[in-house]
Amino acid sequence: MEKRIQQLQEEALSALDQAADLKTLQDIRVSILGKKGALTDVMKGMRELSAEQRPRIGSLVNTLKDQFEQSFSQRQEELQQLAIAEKLASEKIDVTLPGRRQVAGSHHPITLVTREICDIFSRLGFSAEEGPEIEKDFFNFEALNIPKDHPARDMQDTFYIQDELVLRTHTSPVQVRTMLKQAPPIRIIAPGTVYRRDSDLTHSPMFHQVEGLLVDENVTFGDLKGVLIHFLNEYFGADLGVRFRPSFFPFTEPSAEVDIACVICGGKGCRVCGGTGWLEILGCGMVDPAVFDSVHYDAEKYSGFAFGMGLERIAMLKYGVNDLRLFFENDLRFLKQF
Ligand SMILES: [Zn+2]
Repeated sequence: MEKRIQQLQEEALSALDQAADLKTLQDIRVSILGKKGALTDVMKGMRELSAEQRPRIGSLVNTLKDQFEQSFSQRQEELQQLAIAEKLASEKIDVTLPGRRQVAGSHHPITLVTREICDIFSRLGFSAEEGPEIEKDFFNFEALNIPKDHPARDMQDTFYIQDELVLRTHTSPVQVRTMLKQAPPIRIIAPGTVYRRDSDLTHSPMFHQVEGLLVDENVTFGDLKGVLIHFLNEYFGADLGVRFRPSFFPFTEPSAEVDIACVICGGKGCRVCGGTGWLEILGCGMVDPAVFDSVHYDAEKYSGFAFGMGLERIAMLKYGVNDLRLFFENDLRFLKQF
């Protein structure tokens, strides 16, 4: 029996040493001290021993038990530490790593141009007005001296929704809406989206305009020139060459187109200005009395001027962009540059 105990001691202690995880360790404990464990077996066998043998074997069993318990707790602690260390290593967080940043967006170039133009005119006392993009024929054409069958309707290829409903072809209907709403003096600019059936390198079926209108007593073509030259110098730089060329628009009389000295070549002539040294930048004129008639203004008492320009063209010149379509493709590599 002594031999059996000694053998059990060796086996048990070496098993504890080799246990690689806490579960195995528990299993070993059960196999030794459990109800059906090896040591429990031995103790059951003690009943058959003589009175002289019993104390000696009993003390051996106790020693084994003590030693086993001691080794067990030691190994258990080692394995627990190991488990914690492993967990720490696998869940390690590097607090020195830089955080993930939100990518900041930027404004679309058309938005930038619109805001800058509105800024300049607001310093001159103009306020911004808006109007609907689906417009009645009356506001888009009739009230602007473009009756049905007027040849001027051919100048603008229109998207018709119904007979009397169009996608506005210009921002000018905002002028009409404003004049019907309030009496002079009027000083507004109207930026917005407009639509025409036109699509190529320099035309898009949807594009943007800014329109301006000033109505008061004694407004002259001199006022028109002063305001526009001031604006162009503010926007493109002082001492910019500016010229007015006679033109035709149904809603203004007289009408003019305005050119600026080419901002690319400085007037020497290049591909962008077609070698002329000039760039067409906006249309303008004195409000036609027929337009005042349709909004019930007294054309004898009041006069005014209006102007309009394409924002894409201004943005192309301002930022040196050579393809209009880039503004609408929404390629982030392009948009991020602004
Ligand atoms: Zn040029």
